[in-house]
Amino acid sequence: MTTFYYEYIRYRNFNFEGFFNSISDYDIERVISKDKLNIYDFLTLLSPNAEKYLEIMAQKAHRVTIQNFGRVILLYIPMYLANYCINKCAYCGYNADNKIKRNIMSIEDVRHEAELISQKGFRHILILTGESRAKTPVSYIKTCVAVLKEYFSSICIEIYPLKEKEYEELVHAGVDSITIYQETYDEKTYDEVHLSGPKKNYKYRLETPDRACRAGIKNVNIGALLGLNDWRKDVFYTALHAKYLQDKYGDVDVGVSVPRIKPHIGAFQPKSNVSDKNLVQIILSFRIFMPRLGISLSTRESADLRNNLIPLGITKFSAESSTKVGGYLEEKEYEDSGQFEVSDNRSLEEIVEMIRSSGYQPIFKDWENVI
Ligand code: SF4
Repeated sequence: MTTFYYEYIRYRNFNFEGFFNSISDYDIERVISKDKLNIYDFLTLLSPNAEKYLEIMAQKAHRVTIQNFGRVILLYIPMYLANYCINKCAYCGYNADNKIKRNIMSIEDVRHEAELISQKGFRHILILTGESRAKTPVSYIKTCVAVLKEYFSSICIEIYPLKEKEYEELVHAGVDSITIYQETYDEKTYDEVHLSGPKKNYKYRLETPDRACRAGIKNVNIGALLGLNDWRKDVFYTALHAKYLQDKYGDVDVGVSVPRIKPHIGAFQPKSNVSDKNLVQIILSFRIFMPRLGISLSTRESADLRNNLIPLGITKFSAESSTKVGGYLEEKEYEDSGQFEVSDNRSLEEIVEMIRSSGYQPIFKDWENVI
């Protein structure tokens, strides 16, 4: 069975430096004026030389977004079900070695939190756990999904990689979307930052979106944790992966996220810094390369930056997010430091108002999940 791993191997030893050195101004202008781009055109837009074309790229990305999505931004909210994890990822606060308080939400609290969140208006929810099949087995996720289905029209899971059969079970239970980040596509760096645990298996993780798509999931969101490795390389492979999924699974909506490494408990030095300007170039390049691609932006980014990125290609926005287990409950029973720091702490009302005043329409629901 073919998977993205075999596509990745074809490009594994690609000479990025040679390619970037060969890019002229003419190449960039030619790519910006094209209607249909190939993966090398994408890399051209991502080149250091293209940084001086960001204004022209922004105009095109804006036009392409309006043509394909209109002026709408889908709002969603994350819910952390548990922070137990048996992996040792060097960059994460939930790393099994970190001495933090571990929690798992009771089903009663999941219901209570679902009520509180849905009262605010949210209809799309993203549920997250660390990787612990012992503490958060598929049966627990299924029970939570059964409760959440009563309150939300779309349920996305960001949990450990599952087998195809397990995805089928969860799709049947009401899950329509998955988010799974490869973190870094560079196998050597991947091995270095995943110190131990099942997540060390690079190929199994890389093939996860293939398994989920075969199992009938409707929406797949992928990405790299920007900064873990040379960001231009990781963004290139993310785009290659997104295009592969879109071409192979025509009825699946494919999206990307562009998370940058944030401070957390434990010390980790990113390999490369991704500036705000770099982030803009990444978003513009994605939008011009894949006009129908969903692009999400989380509250990892500051309010100002999020405001400015709206017209450039973003389609999904999280709001009022907590990265703590039980983070929305009124009585904070779960003592938790969170997976990463949130930078945009505005209320949902403030975000809705900002989206409207930018000339866009915030939406809470883009489909009804009927199975
Ligand atoms: S990134 Fe995920 S798998 Fe790795 S330690 Fe954090 S929660 Fe666990």
